Amino acid sequence: MKKKFKAESQRLLEMMINSIYTHKEIFLREIISNASDAIDKMCFVALSDESMGLSRKDFEIRITLDKENRTLTVSDNGIGMNKDELEQNLGVIAFSGSKKFSEEIDKENADAVDIIGQFGVGFYSAFMVADKIEVVTRKNGEEQAYRWESEGTGGYSIEEASREEQGTDVIMHIRQDGEEKDEYSQYMREYPIYKLVKKYSDYIRYPIKMLMPQPTVKEGSDPENPEFEEVFEYEVLNSMVPLWQRKKSEVTSEEYEEFYKRNFQDDLPPLEVITVSVEGIVSYDALLFIPEAVQNKYYSDDFRGGVRLYSSGVMIMDKCEELLPDYFNFVRGVIESPDLSLNISREMLQHDRQLRTIKTNIEKKIRSKLEDMLKNDREKYETFYKSFGRQLKLCALDDYGKNKEQLQDFLMFYSSTEKKAVTLAEYVDRMKEDQKYIYYASGDSFETVDKMPQTEILKDRGIEILYFTDNTDEFIPDMFRKYKDKPFKSVIDGDLDLGEEDNKKEEAANKKFKDVFDFVKESLGDQVDVVKASTKLKTHPVCLSSGEGITFEMEKYFTAVNPGLGMKAKRILELNVEHNAFIALERTIKSDKKKAEKMAEILYTQALLIAGLPVEDPSGYTDTVCSLFE
Ligand code: ADP
Repeated sequence: MKKKFKAESQRLLEMMINSIYTHKEIFLREIISNASDAIDKMCFVALSDESMGLSRKDFEIRITLDKENRTLTVSDNGIGMNKDELEQNLGVIAFSGSKKFSEEIDKENADAVDIIGQFGVGFYSAFMVADKIEVVTRKNGEEQAYRWESEGTGGYSIEEASREEQGTDVIMHIRQDGEEKDEYSQYMREYPIYKLVKKYSDYIRYPIKMLMPQPTVKEGSDPENPEFEEVFEYEVLNSMVPLWQRKKSEVTSEEYEEFYKRNFQDDLPPLEVITVSVEGIVSYDALLFIPEAVQNKYYSDDFRGGVRLYSSGVMIMDKCEELLPDYFNFVRGVIESPDLSLNISREMLQHDRQLRTIKTNIEKKIRSKLEDMLKNDREKYETFYKSFGRQLKLCALDDYGKNKEQLQDFLMFYSSTEKKAVTLAEYVDRMKEDQKYIYYASGDSFETVDKMPQTEILKDRGIEILYFTDNTDEFIPDMFRKYKDKPFKSVIDGDLDLGEEDNKKEEAANKKFKDVFDFVKESLGDQVDVVKASTKLKTHPVCLSSGEGITFEMEKYFTAVNPGLGMKAKRILELNVEHNAFIALERTIKSDKKKAEKMAEILYTQALLIAGLPVEDPSGYTDTVCSLFE
């Protein structure tokens, strides 16, 4: 009985079948890579169970060309599939790359064929060269084998079949050539297939064998004048050295890119490739990638990172999180060590000393790669930071700043003077000689922060300010306290401590206008904690500062998370005694107290608005403003 493909698979199939894509040859890489994955799984089962009597060298991939029937077959003695798995795996798009690919096609519609090469498109890609595919497979541990068969968009059928041992044959019925000469027939000849295996699948760890013609002297022919005949013998086509065991200088960036995309389901090339090869008390090879962009679910709780772990050619864990520190969990890749036991458990992973050594070294390598990027390729680092900066910040704050030492030098903040993101080290290096603090200003966006009245005086004196615009930034001063011995100071801090002279000026103003400040404090009541003269303001009449402890940004954050908590920052109302508004207020206090009370209320509300804090009684405020028009 024929079954239909699921809708999205159908669409992808049509694309494959009608494809005019020039790199059709990638189908072989995809089919071989599936075979290799299946052997990986089988190898693991076999080597964990000695009673099976199988060893690594019993596994292989075979390519068979049947010129008479025009079929190209890729066989493996891997894990195989049962009926349900056949249905599941080959009836729907299984691979996220394929899914992404078809989404992309839906988006772009036209010219879609050009993007085939960017994705690992899996099993279906074989329909680019075959008009019919049979899959004969038998699952390890089961007796019954099955044959899956499809001619493409018409659907597929599954029936019982027989196969001597566990494993899978993918039998591709190669198309007839169209207008282009040799378009498909090339896949029926040994040499082009050999070249494709070399090109795309050389590092596959199991032997890929094929009968290859060996020019041989004909038996009984005259040794003086020998006659040759073609004898076919099985030859291993690939060198079988996995990419991570090869020297970086001998691997092309295309090979790394290809490997990364295929194995870690990313459609972008990696931003950086890191290779590590260590021989010693603990020996291991690692091939690690820093992705360019966050992948699906990265910032969600469901995300699971980790590296693929191999021991002597056997994959023992697909996502081993224990080998990477949490803050670098975006790194993908492979680590292989002959010193690991096949049956290693997650529990053991955490306590194993050898693994801890690997982990420490790996972390060092990642760290130095990031440092190198930051120093020598700023643009690339910024691309990286756009994707993973948030992760680094969150982790720097996590657990009371436990990892701050490791991460603080990787963080970036927008600088008021440089007009771009800078690191804390760069800020401190540029600090003025007598500058005691790292000044920062918090708000929702660059624009709001840039307009804050409290930044005026610092800007005026050419002091750099870091703009904290992520809602996590605000917690950095609290957790870090200091960076290179320089404490952080918010521009809305009551005391910016800009120098003795400012302090004296403020003191004098506080004394001179004590009556005005007392009046304002009295009329505002508990709404404010302190009213005082400001040394920060130049053109603005008022601003609000917070004292030690909770800041306004924290107050906003906590109110959003848990309004019941009633977390409030201290409110210090600062008035610019040189501003016309202040002069008018001072005058009005003497002539019309009622009106002056209203003016105080208005000034306070303006300060709230500028600080981005809610006005408790907006209509009351409007009434107050309008009453002054009378
Ligand atoms: P992907 O390999 O990326 O998951 P494919 O479309 O290539 O996507 O394959 C779908 C699934 O079919 C695989 O994940 C695997 O479970 C199964 N499969 C394909 N080829 C084989 C094979 N030779 N042996 C066992 N299972 C296979």
